[in-house]
Amino acid sequence: NGFVELGLAPALVQACKDLGYTQPTTVQQKAIPMAMAGVGSDKAGKFVDLMVSSQTGSGKTAAFLLPVLHTLLTQQAEAEEAERAEYEQACADAAAKGEPAPKRAKRKDPTNPRNFKAPTPGALIVCPTRELAQQVAHDAIDLVQHCRGLRVANIVGGMPYQLQIAKLQNANLVVATPGRLLDLQRSMQIKLDQVQFLVVDEADRMLDLGFSDDLAEINQLTIDRKQTMMFSATFAPRIQQLAARVMREPQRVTI
Ligand code: AMP
Repeated sequence: NGFVELGLAPALVQACKDLGYTQPTTVQQKAIPMAMAGVGSDKAGKFVDLMVSSQTGSGKTAAFLLPVLHTLLTQQAEAEEAERAEYEQACADAAAKGEPAPKRAKRKDPTNPRNFKAPTPGALIVCPTRELAQQVAHDAIDLVQHCRGLRVANIVGGMPYQLQIAKLQNANLVVATPGRLLDLQRSMQIKLDQVQFLVVDEADRMLDLGFSDDLAEINQLTIDRKQTMMFSATFAPRIQQLAARVMREPQRVTI
């Protein structure tokens, strides 16, 4: 299976298998290893920015979802391991002093409104239209089916606010259209300062639809991110100007 060779986590390889993807498409083969080059302690988090030329139907969606999900999964596993090691150390320390084992910290009930904390997703995908955002979110949900603890949320205009806000709780990956995303950000229903990975899908249509200012704002709100990927059908000059504003020395992937 070609997805194993790309170095993806077993849960993601299994999802690809379940979806009937036997081999990565060309854009997946090229973009996934480049996007994942910063994962893992030996790479010290040195992620590169990518500018990818891609058409609908090329498999571009999985080309950005798979590396982002893989990195989030890896980080989650590392955090769980660190928490476990810390707890074991605390137990060993207690045992050495002849004290009972410490209790594990209880998780707060997320359905209690008193415990509300604005969600802080680690990854953000922005799409020009509601239909595209829904399609991308749908693909993401398919890909995380075996990933315990990874949650996907979709934010688009024209849907009831309360429902979206409820679904945002604990979301790791958010797929959004810019307008509603910024609405929720302004009303403090979501915080974007912990976004590590930003993907701009169909950047050319984004500009056609007048989202340039919204993208500038999203760029500012996610200033500490580690990686930005832009997917576009063309590399026309105005796309390159946008790329220069939101990315640092992006590597180009053409197919
Ligand atoms: P996209 O270009 O992302 O819109 O994807 C086009 C279609 O190809 C979608 O229906 C995907 O589910 C499907 N697809 C993506 N990657 C693969 C793959 N490696 N093998 C077969 N189908 C795929």
